[in-house]
Amino acid sequence: MAILNRLMRGRAAASAAAAAAAARRFAAAASSEVGAAFAASVGREGETAERRTKRDPRSWNVQWVFLGCPGVGKGTYASRLSHLLGVPHIATGDLVREELASSGPLAKELAEIVNQGKLVSDEIIISLLSKRLEDGEAKGESGFILDGFPRTIRQAEILEGVTDIDLVINLKLREDVLLTKCLGRRICSQCGGNFNVASIDIKGENGTPGIYMAPLLPPPQCASKLITRSDDTEKVVKERLRVYHDLSEPVEEFYGRRGKLLEFELPGGIPESWPKLLQALNLEDPDDKQSAAA
Ligand SMILES: [Zn+2]
Repeated sequence: MAILNRLMRGRAAASAAAAAAAARRFAAAASSEVGAAFAASVGREGETAERRTKRDPRSWNVQWVFLGCPGVGKGTYASRLSHLLGVPHIATGDLVREELASSGPLAKELAEIVNQGKLVSDEIIISLLSKRLEDGEAKGESGFILDGFPRTIRQAEILEGVTDIDLVINLKLREDVLLTKCLGRRICSQCGGNFNVASIDIKGENGTPGIYMAPLLPPPQCASKLITRSDDTEKVVKERLRVYHDLSEPVEEFYGRRGKLLEFELPGGIPESWPKLLQALNLEDPDDKQSAAA
């Protein structure tokens, strides 16, 4: 991380174009693999056609993947970054839901799989994702942030044949904190709103940094209607995490070997983590600047 920060020290404005220009400046100096991958990820604008492989996305400049265990909040950070960079946030769970709700070619097959409680196959996910990327390219989208994919080493290998991934951001959170957070999840039975009653405030000790995460409390009208999802028990959450780690460790190694993995340890809740994540990516949030100035 320190190397990346050093490489990416300069200031890039939040627009993708400005980020691309900045990345080109840093690309020359980038000697760390992840730094180079990042520089490449936002520096495609000026590349020649010969250097691009597989897809030819003239202005595609962010092709990122978000990894992170269930409950870490990767959807939130992926969504915020997608707004900031002006690229779509593509969550494979959403693709499945959209296909199910449509009259698309896979809708019937998917409905059967889901109704039987089976896992959607890699082939179907890849097919939905390829179509989504093609549609996006046709519409002139300038990149993407993938969330929830690739989940397995096999998916990572298949994805490599479909498109180039520039950077893989692996969001991490202390396991004890993650467990507390998952067990604090509540849903409003009336409006469906998501809340979290866990209040995390661990003091740092022996060189380990403390961690603070505020609860996300419901408004008064929801407070008496909160329910816990039946699968948010300690046993189920721990099993979910174990399965996740078994599958994701090879995926992390896969991208690590290719110099594309950026490990990011969440230092707390969104107010603590968002600015540090932007710093690690050498991005600035213009909204934050405005609110700081106001
Ligand atoms: Zn409510």
